[in-house]
Amino acid sequence: MERIGTRKLRVMLVPLPLQGHLTPMLQLASVLHLRGFSVIVAHTEFNSPNPENHPDFTFIPLKDGVCSPSANLLDMISAINTNCKEPLEKCIVELQGQLSCIIYDSLLHFVDTVAHHLKLPTIFFRPSTAVYMQSYLSLLSLHGKMIIPLPESHLEEAVPELHPIIRFKDLPLSVLSKIPQVVIDFVKSFSDIKSSVAVIWNSVEILDDFSIHQQYQVPFFPIGPLHKMASSSSSMPTSLLQEDPGCIAWLDKQALKSVLYVSLGSLATLSSEALVETAMGIANSGQPFLWAIRPSSVAGSEWIECLPQGLRGVIQERGLIVKWAPQKEVLAHPAVGGFLSHCGWNSTLESLSQGVAMICMPFFGDQMINARFSVHVWEVGVEIGNMADRKSIEEAVRALMVDEQGKEMRCRAAEIKHKLHLSMVKGGSSCRALEDLVEFITSLSA
Ligand code: UDP
Repeated sequence: MERIGTRKLRVMLVPLPLQGHLTPMLQLASVLHLRGFSVIVAHTEFNSPNPENHPDFTFIPLKDGVCSPSANLLDMISAINTNCKEPLEKCIVELQGQLSCIIYDSLLHFVDTVAHHLKLPTIFFRPSTAVYMQSYLSLLSLHGKMIIPLPESHLEEAVPELHPIIRFKDLPLSVLSKIPQVVIDFVKSFSDIKSSVAVIWNSVEILDDFSIHQQYQVPFFPIGPLHKMASSSSSMPTSLLQEDPGCIAWLDKQALKSVLYVSLGSLATLSSEALVETAMGIANSGQPFLWAIRPSSVAGSEWIECLPQGLRGVIQERGLIVKWAPQKEVLAHPAVGGFLSHCGWNSTLESLSQGVAMICMPFFGDQMINARFSVHVWEVGVEIGNMADRKSIEEAVRALMVDEQGKEMRCRAAEIKHKLHLSMVKGGSSCRALEDLVEFITSLSA
């Protein structure tokens, strides 16, 4: 179906070079390749994927002018949107009508501008939930009605028109002060699908709410969880950091469901005080643990120098700290019984797909909303703030790993794992959405 005559249809994908965006885009590339499409990945030189890990795709680097990982993500994203326009245009022109469409990360609006100019259809890709995107539309509406800034006393209230468990304090931008115009412009730029002819979500019908499509009014394809949909190539490495494989051998020696896995993803950082509190809380819980701590993720330290020697001794007895873990493999390991997570969407999907319940420690972006859903809608997690002290961390670890409450959460997580599996097999929502997407892309070349 995906061939016109004898010609294999070719799609171009343009990822945002951040781990949580790059990974699902490469997984999408893999899913489409498995369905017979030829795949070109046009990527920034900054945080470039390693072409050797993906011999089936063609990689085209775009000069981005991003010299160093900027602390300010907004600046980095704007630089890419400005600097990659010309290189992308040149590259599409050179391909002379060989592309069926371009699938681009929603934060890279320049792709739609270039493609529209060259009369090439685009598909908007969101690596997170539709509910999260809706929260930005809600922020724009609150800003437009001049409801922001709000007094602090409103933070615990539910946001009108969003799921009732989402409070003002869970929104991705603070509502306590006026939102700067540059931020409003940025939100407008990525919440508008522009000339895109469809939207792909790394999300799943049973976990999300796609009512946002009343506004978008184009076909939408929720085909998540992409790491599972791309399962025949699940070992495909997408990490920008080197994974430490030694932790799997360590997990092999631990008792069934005894280990707490701890990771705060690729962007969140901790103060040295928060690192010590978290380490004390986990150590005092008495549970074995595997903790992935990225270099430079603790303020003022290269790695974990600020952990006191005594605490390091306890860690060596009962736990293992690595710089970057093979997370999907870790979550699939039978020794892992819980996940202390920042609730990034990829991590949340990876955890739910393995039936692993969570301690939710959200920091920013969609993490608060994902945490609220994990705790209050799916009931597979306990929430602690990102400023939790050692006592509340210790209690949360016990609640998840030892108490009856934790057992119940694990049962519900196992049910979600099963439902996610059903959504991916024949007749399931993600499977059907993928079939529809393949047909849709094919129709663009007809
Ligand atoms: N990850 C990993 N090893 C680690 C920590 C994270 O492979 O030690 C991966 C994880 O599996 C996920 C991604 O990094 O796919 C993080 O994405 P997420 O959306 O969870 O959070 P973000 O990094 O965007 O905050």
